[in-house]
Amino acid sequence: MNLCILCQVTAPDPRKPEHILLNALGGRLTTTKALCATCNNIMGAGPDKDLADSVAPLRNIANFRSGSGKAPPSIPRVEADGIVYDLAPGGKPVLRPSSPLFIEDGHEGVNVKISARDEAHLEQLLRGAAGKLGLPESAHDAFIKDAKQRATRVTGFAPRAEHGIQFGSEGSQRSMMKACLVLWNELVGNEELSHPRYTTSREFVRSGTDIEEDSHTPLTCIHTRKLLELPNGYGANPNYIWVGSDATGKVLGYFRLYNAVGWLFELASDGAPVSRSISLISNPFQPSEHRLLTDDNSLVDFRVFEAIGAADTKSNFDETRQALSELLRQAHSMSWDRTTKELFDEAIDATGLQDGDILDEQRLKDISSAIAYRFSHFLTRTPRTEPLEWPAKNSSNEGNAE
Ligand SMILES: [Zn+2]
Repeated sequence: MNLCILCQVTAPDPRKPEHILLNALGGRLTTTKALCATCNNIMGAGPDKDLADSVAPLRNIANFRSGSGKAPPSIPRVEADGIVYDLAPGGKPVLRPSSPLFIEDGHEGVNVKISARDEAHLEQLLRGAAGKLGLPESAHDAFIKDAKQRATRVTGFAPRAEHGIQFGSEGSQRSMMKACLVLWNELVGNEELSHPRYTTSREFVRSGTDIEEDSHTPLTCIHTRKLLELPNGYGANPNYIWVGSDATGKVLGYFRLYNAVGWLFELASDGAPVSRSISLISNPFQPSEHRLLTDDNSLVDFRVFEAIGAADTKSNFDETRQALSELLRQAHSMSWDRTTKELFDEAIDATGLQDGDILDEQRLKDISSAIAYRFSHFLTRTPRTEPLEWPAKNSSNEGNAE
């Protein structure tokens, strides 16, 4: 019977597919051959979560969806220059107002000041204010409608905040090494993986280094240089997992994150099936672009990784930095495209243009000035203030006179 490659007690659970490359990293390929339900849960709540959390800020800025298509995580409570905001997916700042609802008795009645992060929030605060002011239920809608007509929308720019990104904690290493074992299992099978030559690797994945005193980490090195052999077609920043053996059956596993930094593990010192290899490459910008390659089709030769392990490398993060700035440059250009489209759509909305309307000279002028207004504020990073609700334009009263 095939046993779970980690605990070796229970059979893998066919109802619990395991992502070979983490879902949070854009992984789509799953397997039901490797882990039992318990190990799957333990990994998911521990090491896999560590790895996913460590890339969350990067995913947020680069707008990397998960393999299953879920939006990237938001980053709550970023603070810069005394302003607190959340970062919505795509690195979009959303203000957290410091005092959203303020009510005081004034000379000429009650003053209500509300600052909301968006329209839904405003409506919610207005409902709260209506209650606090003791307005009868029947008057709430009219109160809200009136307040919204007088509200203004301020579109500004968030101050820049620094994000530290930390990769490769021990938890993350355990997750990456597990990915290597799961991938290797696809090629050589559970019986091979149950051999004692994998005990150290298995124990490291399950417990890290702090369980037994004499256990040591099978991490061979952190690789901060470029990996020149990677193929085109998966973007400039693919995630890449490779596992292979040499002629003596020594097994190495390599996990490269966003083509920026790699971790090399020794999975077994000898005796495994010889000269085999399997790899998985995946484009985080486009998770549908991924490929599983085995043996002769595998992208990189064992000797490349052996050389990485043998080289006396001082960690030099220049090339890692270069790879990450390439990633951010691409993410930035995509975000610029999105912003451009949003400003354009917003300008069209503001002119009240409907499907089927005729674009006469006047309409075109209105649209151009609405676009120019938004772009000049955007490019000069100047906040703009405008009514929340544009006065309704009744198209039947306009433009028909001529
Ligand atoms: Zn298990």
